[in-house]
Amino acid sequence: MGVEEQLPAGVLLTTIEGLSGYMRKASLWPATFGLACCAIEMMTTGAPRYDAARFGMEVFRASPRQADLMIVAGRVSQKMAPVLRQIYDQMPNPKWVLAMGVCASSGGMFNNYAIVQGVDHVVPVDMYLPGCPPRPEMLLDAFLKLHDDIQHGKLGAHKKALQAEQEQAALTA
Ligand code: SF4
Repeated sequence: MGVEEQLPAGVLLTTIEGLSGYMRKASLWPATFGLACCAIEMMTTGAPRYDAARFGMEVFRASPRQADLMIVAGRVSQKMAPVLRQIYDQMPNPKWVLAMGVCASSGGMFNNYAIVQGVDHVVPVDMYLPGCPPRPEMLLDAFLKLHDDIQHGKLGAHKKALQAEQEQAALTA
């Protein structure tokens, strides 16, 4: 009897997904998008006291080509929105977006014409982190929850979900 008949169906793919998820979650490189006060907490998270390096995330990249996580830290002005979208588009797949703080998540107290009322109007968001500002412990907690999602996600599922979301946004625009 061949190996294929002895193994339960899908076992090989499951193992590859698990390995790939583990690798991805352990080497997320954030593209910083520090826009306002929340960025100070994000910088603190990367510094020695909170030490994001423990989770393989110390390499904050200035180039979107080398990053797979966008942390939107602060309010997004209407003028900044196209820039943010361009940087997102320049990041290679698979990629994730974390909306840090109430301003990035929903506009927060800036309920006016100049501020985007939630960065999910511009890019698909994978995780929303409340707080004004969220403390570094909260950002680390969001990292770990995102790691969990990445590790247990199916290969390619994230990209498909993003595409569906973008098609839906294009239809409603
Ligand atoms: Fe600043 Fe609070 Fe908005 Fe963060 S959520 S950018 S700390 S006002």
